[in-house]
Amino acid sequence: MSARYLKLSRAELESRAQQAYDIYRECRVCPHACGVDRTQGQTGFCGQTDLLRVSSSVRHFGEEPPLVGKAGVGNLFVTACNMRCDYCQNFQISQLWRSATEAMSAEESWQAAAHQMLRLQEEGAHFIGWVSPSHVVPGLLKSLSLAREMGLGIPIIYNTNGYDALPTLKLLDGVVDIYLPDLKYAHSATAKGISHIHEYPEFSRQAVLEMYRQVGPLEIGEDGLARQGLLVRHLLLPEDIAGTWETLCFIALELSPTVPLSLMSQYRPVHKVTSPLDREITQEEYESAIAMARELGFENLYLQSMEAIMHNLPDFENTENPFPLDRTHNQENAGVS
Ligand code: SF4
Repeated sequence: MSARYLKLSRAELESRAQQAYDIYRECRVCPHACGVDRTQGQTGFCGQTDLLRVSSSVRHFGEEPPLVGKAGVGNLFVTACNMRCDYCQNFQISQLWRSATEAMSAEESWQAAAHQMLRLQEEGAHFIGWVSPSHVVPGLLKSLSLAREMGLGIPIIYNTNGYDALPTLKLLDGVVDIYLPDLKYAHSATAKGISHIHEYPEFSRQAVLEMYRQVGPLEIGEDGLARQGLLVRHLLLPEDIAGTWETLCFIALELSPTVPLSLMSQYRPVHKVTSPLDREITQEEYESAIAMARELGFENLYLQSMEAIMHNLPDFENTENPFPLDRTHNQENAGVS
């Protein structure tokens, strides 16, 4: 598989990275638009400077089958986040991270991430996955530019919470092969109350429309692996807090029912949830969402088991293997010891 960024000239990729980096000077990289100068060490909502911090870089087998294949996605789990979900299953790295104490320059941090991507490619990963990348797109582009010069050639998956700024996404046109957004909420007040962000539905829908414009619906090759395109996720929440019907209507009517849809049952009441988020979703709630998707004519549905054991909750204190259930899979499928 040939990554889209390989078709850009070296100068074009460097230019994209620099244009993105310049947004750090009065940061509007994501919809918070904090206006701080991250190149001078200032921080906004996400708490990050221009240093690219990665909490863990491992092959992961928990994504949808066309992304996982036999050898997994080489994920870079980025530190911090531009959302602050009360129930975040990655809260150890998204919210409880500590300020960097290491004496590393931004340039060195981009090089470190570039080497991590190359290692994942050498391990056989089918794709590089940028996980929760919205607040560090400039750093990731700088890093990609370096990695390509060192021989990186596998496609990029942009695995996002959907809270992305349009001008930032436009710089990724021709760079990202697969967009994997989770459309989380249909109502602004809910997003504000649970994830502490403003105008989530407006920003995330604009973002997904732009992703669709860039890559269209996900295409899958004869080998069963994804080639290019958009796959939308939707995490169900108890008591339909997420607003599933409205979100599925948006995807079906404003995009297309040909866009593959991943309905996620994996919600677990972790971190600091309160009622009514303090329980898992029920079988009935999940079946109701599936019925909605069928009624709207979605052609490609990815569904999850309701069994808790199937949901591989991470422990990011174990940076080398934050997904313990992946280890066996890793060894069986890719021969890694
Ligand atoms: S990335 Fe978003 S949250 Fe972080 S400083 Fe920039 S605008 Fe603020």
